[in-house]
Amino acid sequence: MSTLVLDGCAVVTMDGQGSEYAAGHVVVTGNVISAVGPGSANSSAANSGVANSGVANSGVANSRRIDASGCLATPGLINTHHHLYQWGTRGMAADATLFEWLTELYPVWARMDYDVVRPLATAALAWLARSGCSTTMDHHYIFPRAGGDLLGATVAAARQVGLRFHPTRGSMDLGASAGGLPPDDVVEDRDAILVASKAAIEEFHDASPHSMLRIGLAPCSPFSVTSGLLTDAAELARHAGVRLHTHLAETADEDEYCAEHFGCTPVEYLDSLGWLGDDVWLAHGVHLGDAAITRLAATGTGVAHCPSSNGRLGAGICRTHDLLAAKVPVGLGVDGAASSEENSLIGEVRQAALIARSAGGPRAMTVRQALELGTMGGARLLGRDQEIGSLETGKLADIALWRLDGLPHAGITDLVAALVLGARPPLELLLVNGETIVERDQLVTVDERGVAAQARRASAVLTGHR
Ligand SMILES: [Zn+2]
Repeated sequence: MSTLVLDGCAVVTMDGQGSEYAAGHVVVTGNVISAVGPGSANSSAANSGVANSGVANSGVANSRRIDASGCLATPGLINTHHHLYQWGTRGMAADATLFEWLTELYPVWARMDYDVVRPLATAALAWLARSGCSTTMDHHYIFPRAGGDLLGATVAAARQVGLRFHPTRGSMDLGASAGGLPPDDVVEDRDAILVASKAAIEEFHDASPHSMLRIGLAPCSPFSVTSGLLTDAAELARHAGVRLHTHLAETADEDEYCAEHFGCTPVEYLDSLGWLGDDVWLAHGVHLGDAAITRLAATGTGVAHCPSSNGRLGAGICRTHDLLAAKVPVGLGVDGAASSEENSLIGEVRQAALIARSAGGPRAMTVRQALELGTMGGARLLGRDQEIGSLETGKLADIALWRLDGLPHAGITDLVAALVLGARPPLELLLVNGETIVERDQLVTVDERGVAAQARRASAVLTGHR
């Protein structure tokens, strides 16, 4: 079994005790963390037979030691809300509200097919990896009739790039003629959605420990799906043992829509359909009253906070401080790709800290809380907190190693502050399941220039600018 030693780095474990080491080590055996602690890895390495000199291959078969001095090791970041296919429509409706933006983009997305989604998803996943992300969900909710296997396209892309993947089979069944926001030609029939959802679980869901792929079900939003679909999807998900996800309480427009159509708030609406629980996480949760936060906390329902997207669409500021104080599980999402063009998960950690403080003062979110949202917080939302989200012996080897000894961070005394508040650092190494995905800011699983070229072509096809 292979052994990899990261030696001499600062380590922020994000374990429950807040363990941090100014100079420490992490040892990976196979796909699992076999040791983490302060000081040199000498003793751990001796036990595993790894030589302690040199910075590359140690000379011992399947063993490698990396001199990681000048770097900070953190858990790989976990992205809890995204739409990979939207990589091809970034920059459109750049100054619009959510409803304006959706109305402009629905007809473009209606042209998607496998050959477009496959390269766009690859590009989005590759860029996520470059931002320190080791696990991501995807929320794909538009399935044009002639589009082919779009969920399969995202799965193939994730396998190629090498990220741990939690795709959701999204859906919309409430077209404009029935009072929904999307045009009729981008919604599906409810029965067809349920059949496809069941098939997706059977084909892709891997419930085993160390899983690289778990499916969820994700009807899109209160203004694009029927209450009947929400109810049926929840029943199917719970029967199959998979998680539930949807957009909720993103904008004031959605609040008004729910008041007009359902006579209640978005959270009350979901509650009435049995859609709150510790197997559910909601994207955004911006417009939440005190009663809604209390209800989310009581049911263990999670929130995927997407600060850049909320800012980009002018949706409002999520009450993260109040959510965390109430012990609502909170993770981070880049959202988009088209409502948040940067799509950098370490960028979201920074945005989460800054936007919380803009609303609630400098102690509204500490730098360590922000990093926790991007690691253990995300692991909880995906139901993987026993396996990922922290650097602890026995957990899966999903690790980001950030270089913090260069000009942008020279002299910053607190390395967590350097990572969260400072310039985006070079990513020295990203491990997913013990495999190297990024090294020295370069993807090793895909050719970055080729991926970019294919994404440009797919975007031109989708937007008609070819
Ligand atoms: Zn979204």
